[in-house]
Amino acid sequence: MTTEQDHGRTTATHGSRIDAYVDRYAARATGMVASEVRALFAVASRPEVVSLAGGMPYVTALPLDAVGELVAELVADRGPVALQYGSGQGDPQLREQICEVMRLEGIEAGPDDVVVTVGSQQALDLITRIFIDPGDVILAEGPSYVGALGTFAAYQAKVVHVDMDDEGLIPEALAEAIEACARAGQRVKFLYTIPNFQNPAGVTLSAERRARVLEICRRARVLVVEDNPYGLLGFDGEPMRALRAEDPDGVVYLGSFSKTLAPGFRVGWALAPHAIRDKLILAMESAVLSHSTFAQLAVGRYLETQPWREQIKAFRELYRERRDAMLDALPKFLPEGCTWTRPAGGFFVWVTLPEGLNSKAILPRAVAARVAFVPGTGFYADGQGTRQMRLSYCYPEPDRIREGVRRLGSVIEQELEV
Ligand code: PMP
Repeated sequence: MTTEQDHGRTTATHGSRIDAYVDRYAARATGMVASEVRALFAVASRPEVVSLAGGMPYVTALPLDAVGELVAELVADRGPVALQYGSGQGDPQLREQICEVMRLEGIEAGPDDVVVTVGSQQALDLITRIFIDPGDVILAEGPSYVGALGTFAAYQAKVVHVDMDDEGLIPEALAEAIEACARAGQRVKFLYTIPNFQNPAGVTLSAERRARVLEICRRARVLVVEDNPYGLLGFDGEPMRALRAEDPDGVVYLGSFSKTLAPGFRVGWALAPHAIRDKLILAMESAVLSHSTFAQLAVGRYLETQPWREQIKAFRELYRERRDAMLDALPKFLPEGCTWTRPAGGFFVWVTLPEGLNSKAILPRAVAARVAFVPGTGFYADGQGTRQMRLSYCYPEPDRIREGVRRLGSVIEQELEV
């Protein structure tokens, strides 16, 4: 973007368009910039490109005929309700069903504790809106979910990253970050964490660390925002107990049907202590009045009439096969000096390139070689991540994943030769 003064008006050009109102935006709008993932989608969606970039669930695996039928029945039997405004807190029956889903992760909660949101992305927006004044600190894993970082930037939060390793967030690093903020007189409003199969790192917070993270936050009176869209998509054994299961007063839990059913419904939720829940409902109503009754009732009917547990199991099998294809291809095709995480669920592998390489600089050459990934810097608020990239295995078929990793390997190989 360029700006110029022109007869007393400041104008800006975005490509060929002129923005005559560039000097009128609120300060918070300067934090709203297109994410690197978004800029990539146009290129990566060309059929000849193997996209290891997006995090799109493989909705083709759903029983689409059954979904079509239940939607038609919903209109036939409950049209006047489904097509009407709903309440700010969300459909009561769906909230009951959400509690049943959360029980799989050890959470005991009632429908009154839940607020339905437009995907968990809206829950993130609302929680940030009610807690953050410009300059307030949010602690977040480094790296962290790009969509959350975008929301935090829009509300002018200062994000302080906390290091992770293969067992997730490092409790000592968390305690140090909280102390450093206190010494600098900065207000830490909450810890934002994705404990299961983290986006983008693919790692999971160990059971032992869960207790320590909660203890550290409880002592420092730091609220925990637990974002858990992937928790039921683990490849081994039972789902882990949610942080919220251990500390109902200290954790706001965010859930979503985007990965276990379909993101197109845009149905997620927040589970929060009642004082916070009330603010979330008010913020929700001011944002969208009420969310789609139609989508909520369709999800409710899906849960009521379809074998949703079996469907989640089928998704797990499908993603496990793709994860295996990627973990099998990486050591075969990536040159020596590259390292990567080994996710036990979810959608993502986090790759670190050899010293001296820059993933963003490599991307145009990778796209020319018909493979796309997301460069690591998009997952940090502070410019880290230059040597990292996120590879997703959720969408392409296993053979395409292998081919994508092969193409990527040869691009990296060429970079090392330069
Ligand atoms: N949190 C995380 C960690 C995610 O990966 C995503 C989706 N990619 C979201 C939240 C938002 O999901 P949705 O709004 O579709 O529920």
